[in-house]
Amino acid sequence: MNEANSRATNTFKQQRDELVRHLRRSVIRDEAVLAAIGAVPREAFVEPGMEPDAYQDHALPISCNQTISQPTVVAKMTSELAVTPDAHVLEIGTGSGYQAAVLSHLARSIVSVELHADLARRAEEVLKSIGVENVEIHVADGSTGWPDAAPYDRIIVTAAMPEIPAALIRQLRPVEGSRLIAPVGDQQAQQLLRVDFHKGKWRTRPVGHVRFVPLRGTAGWSTTEWGDPPPRGAL
Ligand code: SAH
Repeated sequence: MNEANSRATNTFKQQRDELVRHLRRSVIRDEAVLAAIGAVPREAFVEPGMEPDAYQDHALPISCNQTISQPTVVAKMTSELAVTPDAHVLEIGTGSGYQAAVLSHLARSIVSVELHADLARRAEEVLKSIGVENVEIHVADGSTGWPDAAPYDRIIVTAAMPEIPAALIRQLRPVEGSRLIAPVGDQQAQQLLRVDFHKGKWRTRPVGHVRFVPLRGTAGWSTTEWGDPPPRGAL
């Protein structure tokens, strides 16, 4: 690594540490999640040229009219997911691969499904380049999950959905602690819903307000219903 590169890397590390302090000061209490965020080089996941903004606490555009979620939202969703080291996780909406990279530090294995082949390919390259080996990406409509690798201990949906499809719940292992996190609502806003298995049944509770780009496909919306590009300010 030459001197200029090493200076840039140091700066990113300092910015990342500052982001972690910011998240800790705000709402994130989960030190394992903070450590995972502190270990993932977000600058590798943003669009070329946007690296200087990589550690701002807001969403950034990536290709295909999609976005890399705001760090606060990634941290909040990851904390709500309560990932354990032995967990097998499904993510719907790979996007840049950043959320999957954060999960890779906390879980045993992650299956991530992305509708856009070019996003999936780029995410795969970035994850490989930073040495992540426990994330498997599939190009498909993941709106009803990825039954081939079920059951999962955790499911995280990172695009807005109109409701939680029963098919997703069926892919969760029905044991104490199993969880799903998903933004559920319309194109204006969504509630973050947490579904977990407790005393033999599934229960759902709202855990916050978010704004995500729309989920397409069978359990999502058609392109024409939403139009392109995604709503302003969407995560
Ligand atoms: N988790 C991502 C951000 C996700 S943005 C990150 O960390 O960067 C939402 C993503 O969901 C977009 O990439 C979009 O293409 C994808 N998506 C939308 N509908 C989908 C579907 N039916 N199946 C799989 N992915 C979908």
